[in-house]
Amino acid sequence: SYRKGGYHAVRIGDQFSGGRYIAQRKLGWGQFSTVWLAYDTHTSSYVALKIQKSAQHFSQAALHEIELLQAAADGDTENTKCVVRLIDDFKHAGPNGQHLCMVLEFLGDSLLRLIKYNRYKAMELNKVREICKCILTGLDYLHRELGMIHSDLKPENILLCSTIDAAKDPIRSGLRPILEKPEGNQNGAATMNLIEKKLKRRARRAVAKISGRRVSIVGLSETPTKTVRSLDGIDVKCKVVDFGNACWADNKFAEEIQTRQYRAPEVILQSGYSFSVDMWSFACTAFELATGDMLFAPKDGNGYGEDEDHLALMMELLGKIPRKIAIGGARSKDYFDRHGDLKRIRRLKYWPLDRLLTDKYKLPEAEAREFADFLCPILAFEPEKRPTAQQCLQHPWLNLRAQNNEDHVEGQMSNLQIKG
Ligand code: ATP
Ligand code: MG
Ligand code: MG
Repeated sequence: SYRKGGYHAVRIGDQFSGGRYIAQRKLGWGQFSTVWLAYDTHTSSYVALKIQKSAQHFSQAALHEIELLQAAADGDTENTKCVVRLIDDFKHAGPNGQHLCMVLEFLGDSLLRLIKYNRYKAMELNKVREICKCILTGLDYLHRELGMIHSDLKPENILLCSTIDAAKDPIRSGLRPILEKPEGNQNGAATMNLIEKKLKRRARRAVAKISGRRVSIVGLSETPTKTVRSLDGIDVKCKVVDFGNACWADNKFAEEIQTRQYRAPEVILQSGYSFSVDMWSFACTAFELATGDMLFAPKDGNGYGEDEDHLALMMELLGKIPRKIAIGGARSKDYFDRHGDLKRIRRLKYWPLDRLLTDKYKLPEAEAREFADFLCPILAFEPEKRPTAQQCLQHPWLNLRAQNNEDHVEGQMSNLQIKG
């Protein structure tokens, strides 16, 4: 992909936007872009630099993403709405063409990494609550104030915020910016490994210092100081990122949206969609945080496809899809007969959410009931019946405090210590 129209190859120490930004290391990548930690010499802080592939089609997508990110930033002058902030954008000419670049505030690890790092174990419910509040704050803002649908909400696209703000105080956080091209950087990979090693050593030092103050690092060894969180585990803040698939509710351009496991039934059936598709994905995400497992992980099987399996899994958890909904979509005939029964998967084993939470995930009965009471309405098959983000924010579950959470937190945090 590092060819004409593709990714821009970045080396540590590379300068962007007339020398304002200096590349530090890679943070992540997607099909359209690579994302780099960069040092902003104007503000003396770290930023995330998203560099799009250069072909026309990718540039167009980036322009759209910038438009939506800009609208989100314009309406959130206080930066309190749990949506990643666009700081700057510019074009960068490289050997593979002209690349649109977005400069975003530097955030921490994604919730997906956190789940993986926790080895897919359940997260303490008080933390899930805090994360849910942030996501809902972000969604309420996007939906109600901006009229925007995110369309790709999932753990990977929710990033934790740092409490010790490495972005604003790089020196104290133990991560000194690289201001010049390191020696021999022209030679590529070997040098990159060396630099990675150096960064890991630095990261370990940072942990030692910080752990003296009873603070742990949540993150992988190659992502030093990205996410630092205090032991009380109460202020788990996060933000919604990745507006590459977002759209205005009154100007939708795609029929097939969302990542498979987080996809709402009306998207599968193609019966039209709106803001409530994000609510569906939100419920899937909340469940995954609380249990470590995806809520729906459909697979194709003997004689049926992934879509039909997905619909079957939904009905096993939530009951039968009302006939009107089942047969009402452009794709309904592919999966349902005229009675509203699946064509190829006939036997469904009903296992409702509250019982799943107690039987499989061993949640105490009261906790399971309360959590299911929060999630089930959001998983309504009728999109109009799902509560809005604003309504969800009022739900009592978000303001519950679990007992014995002290023990839990200690146990949990020991798993989150950085690995050398
Ligand atoms: P693509 O559109 O190219 O397929 P994508 O849409 O998934 O990729 P993003 O989700 O925006 O791209 O970014 C990819 C990854 O880069 C993220 O999952 C995350 O690891 C990292 N990343 C993105 N933005 C930030 C940020 N602001 N701070 C820190 N890391 C970030
Ligand atoms: Mg993404
Ligand atoms: Mg994207």
